[in-house]
Amino acid sequence: MKVASYLIWPMLRADKYPLMRMLQVLGLVLLCFTAAANAQREPAVYAALAQQTAPAMPAVPSPPTIPKTGFLVVIDAAHGGGDASFPIGDKLAEKDVTLGFARRLSRELEGRGIAVRMLRNYDAAISDDQRAVMANAAEPSLYISIHACSSGSGVHTFTAQVAPAASGSAFLPWNTAQAGYVRTSRSIAEAITTELLKRDIPAIALRAAVPPLNSIAAPAVALELAPPSGQPANQVNAEAYQQGIAAAVSVVIASKRFALPRAGAAR
Ligand SMILES: [Zn+2]
Repeated sequence: MKVASYLIWPMLRADKYPLMRMLQVLGLVLLCFTAAANAQREPAVYAALAQQTAPAMPAVPSPPTIPKTGFLVVIDAAHGGGDASFPIGDKLAEKDVTLGFARRLSRELEGRGIAVRMLRNYDAAISDDQRAVMANAAEPSLYISIHACSSGSGVHTFTAQVAPAASGSAFLPWNTAQAGYVRTSRSIAEAITTELLKRDIPAIALRAAVPPLNSIAAPAVALELAPPSGQPANQVNAEAYQQGIAAAVSVVIASKRFALPRAGAAR
């Protein structure tokens, strides 16, 4: 109160104390100028503080965009559930070898930016007709069926044993739906064989009625994995061996992706 009275009293008596009045006016101007400068600086100060104290936020990936049409490979691990098929060596069942390789091939393709759908990613029995229905519903660019065996060596590629026919019909006979695509299927199988041989993995392209190839309305190839040359049957499951096959198959699929039909083209 005493300080206030010292300030106010000279103002009331400005006529007697002009110098004091001038100093007060200058003080007020200085006060206003400082307040205005602080008002401009504060946002920058707070921003700097926020940068120092804000916790690091993890980058949130944007949700993937799923195109209605694109390049899609359907991978079908043969057998499963009660259908273990043939034993391979002492401890392996074909259904487990096919699923393991199907997953490996899927990862290899996805690593090259290729979309993949696995018909089974678990141990379950699916009939051949169900497999064909599921594959055809996906309208893939390419269907790959995976088998394994203990006889022979390297990789046997199979394509359907149907006479080629013109594609494009809206209504395809169930047992020969592959006819319109089998030429493309064979060119893919031959390219896979060539790529495997380049990598010193024995390979042969064959034609056989391997189900459900005949009923697939898309380019379709079955791969049967046999053990490496001169090695025991259980080596069909060797990681490095399978990885070499997966890499060779993926290289071929990636190189053919623009020559194959767009997935969902019929939708
Ligand atoms: Zn099989």
